[in-house]
Parts: sequence; C-alpha cells; structure tokens
Amino acid sequence: MVQPVSPRPILYGETLESLTERLAENGQPAYRAHQILDWVYKKRVADPAAMTSLPTRLRTWITETFNTQPARLVLTKTSSDVTGKLLLEPPDKALIETVVIRAPMDGVGAERSRKTICISTQVGCAYGCRFCASGLAGWKRDLAAGEIVAQLLHVCRQEDPTTPRAREELASFDNIVVMGMGEPLANYDNLLRALTIVNADWGLRFGARRITISTSGLAPQIRQLADESLGFRLAISLHGATDEVRSQIMPINRKYPLAELLPAIEAFSQKHGRMVTLEFILIADLNDTPEQARALAPIARQLHAHVNLIPYNTVEGLPWLRPTLQKQEAFAEILRRADVSTTLRREKGHDIAAACGQLRLQTEESRAAAKARQISASVGAAV
Ligand code: SF4
Repeated sequence: MVQPVSPRPILYGETLESLTERLAENGQPAYRAHQILDWVYKKRVADPAAMTSLPTRLRTWITETFNTQPARLVLTKTSSDVTGKLLLEPPDKALIETVVIRAPMDGVGAERSRKTICISTQVGCAYGCRFCASGLAGWKRDLAAGEIVAQLLHVCRQEDPTTPRAREELASFDNIVVMGMGEPLANYDNLLRALTIVNADWGLRFGARRITISTSGLAPQIRQLADESLGFRLAISLHGATDEVRSQIMPINRKYPLAELLPAIEAFSQKHGRMVTLEFILIADLNDTPEQARALAPIARQLHAHVNLIPYNTVEGLPWLRPTLQKQEAFAEILRRADVSTTLRREKGHDIAAACGQLRLQTEESRAAAKARQISASVGAAV
C-alpha cells in the first residue's frame, strides 16, 4: 500500500492512548498528552512553537517527532452560495478534496444554516461507480488517519473567525459525511481511528450520531462496522433496485450482489437500531422507471431505510442525463405511496455524491496541462 511520504507520524492521527505511550517512552507524564491535544483540538494551534504552556523541550520533541503539517491548503472554492470546497496537498502532491455544504434553513440567517462537512478517505478510488468523478482516474492511495482528521482542522481554521459558535469544537457544524473521494470502508482502520479522534472528548467532540459513513456496498465491512461500539450512521449508494440495473451503475455489485448486501445492511440497522439511508441517484432511462421504484419499495421497507433520491448531476465524459422533474416526482410518489420515507433532493450544492472529486480532477488536469505546456515550450526552445 502506498503511504504518505513523511516518515514521521502525523500528530492528528494520534489517540490519547498512543500519544500517552509515546510521551512515556520519552519520560514525560501522561497529563502532557491532554495538554498537547488541548492545543491541537480546542485551540486549533498547528505550530508546536506556539503551544506556550508546554516546556520548550517538549515543544521541540513534538516538532522532531511528529509531522504537524500533513497537508497544506492549496485552493478554496465557493461554487455557489451554499457549497465551498477545500483542496489540500500533502507532500507527495496527491490532492485531497473536502466539501462544506451550507443549506439555509427557512426564516433564519446564514449563521444558522445547516452545515455539513464532506470528507475524503482515499486519493482517487478503485470502485469506479459510473456516475462518480473520483473513480475516473483510479485509486492512488489510502489517506492516513491524520490526513482525514486534518481535513476537519482545516475547515475549523477557516470557519473559526466567521462565527462565535465555531469555537466550540465543531459545534457550528451539524453533520459530517464520509462521502468524499474514496470508498471509506476500503480504508477501514484509518477511517475508524480518525473518527474515534473526531468523536473523543479529548478530540473534536463530535457526536457519532452526527457522522454518516457512506459506502458503495462492501458487505463484509458493513457487518464489521455493525460490531463497532460507536454508533455511526450508515448510507448505502444503492442506485439500483435489481442486480441487473445496479451492476450497470455500481461495479461492486458483481462482487457483493443485493442478496449479500441487503442482509449486511439489515444486520447493521438491527444492531444499532437506527435508520440507514439508501442513496439513489436518478438517471434518465436507466433506473428512473416505475419498475425500479416498485422494486425499491419492499427493499426499503424491509430495511426500515430512508430513501434519498438525488437527480443525476452531469459529469463531463459520461453520457447519462438527469430525468425530467415529472419522472423524478413520479418515482418518489410510488415510494411514498408504499409508505417509504423518501426525500427528493432539490437544493443546489446538495448533489455532493456526484460533485465530490471533481475539483481534484479538474486541478490535476489543469496541472497536467500546464506541465505539458512547459515541456512543449522547453522542447520548442531546444530545437
Ligand atoms: S462513489 Fe465513492 S466508492 Fe464509488 S467511485 Fe466514487 S468515491 Fe469511489
């Protein structure tokens, strides 16, 4: 497996336990771990030299032992009034995309809009879901736990000055969705470690119930997740109610067909006693038919799942189209009449499943184009 280039461990990937152990090996008392984590997560201080309550020798030890800048912020982009994207770059020049979505709530100002952070877990993705930009360039590497946590710290540092609520850990955010670049459950150990840090009292103190892990449908890992003590929310990229249709959109369905996937989801929802979400991107003339809706209804009822219908967002290079509004409504209506809890997404900036990974892809393409221009200029100059 390809790993981040720095040989030093990333500070943001340390748990209270692992940091305490490292300190003990260095002859330092356990309470120093709390102090360091307080600087990192409560005060959002990245530079050990600025951790002024720590002895100079300890600050030097942190600098020499850990990588405290696993990725630098190279680009922020606000694509509409509700969506912002951050692009982070680790030393190996991989690009990590993080999305902030603001959904204004009726009758309140921007300060009280609903805010969600969408984080990535891999650079690129091997799963090749047909609607997704992240899979187009293939898988490059897994993100380390500290790189996953670093995305949230970068968002915090951006948001902290904008709202008094942001200072209370991640309190100004309503949800974290693990729905960005990569298949989270394919990077299971790093994901779990990162989310443990995000959830912990000594970390970002963000409740597990407000964290949703979205998967393309890795049945064995869903069962593994069911056995974890932290009760995260689960969303499944279903996108097809029969194997025939789902396999055209989700190649993973050939490995874990519905007969294997659905019982795994059921096991998760039974163990955690909470509703899972079935994500269903509506694609014209592929999965937007009444037959698909009628096949989806009993699946959702059996799983006590909520169905989230997302009209397809055009991805450059892919031939599919968004269904008409009428077809979207008709699909939703069949589900509602069958007593299935259903949402049909309308808001701009919410189509993140399709949008995630696009900024990274565009940036990589423009970098490649710039490099090609440089090479052709130097070749031109040489001849
Ligand atoms: S939807 Fe998720 S799992 Fe599928 S290709 Fe995109 S990033 Fe990978």
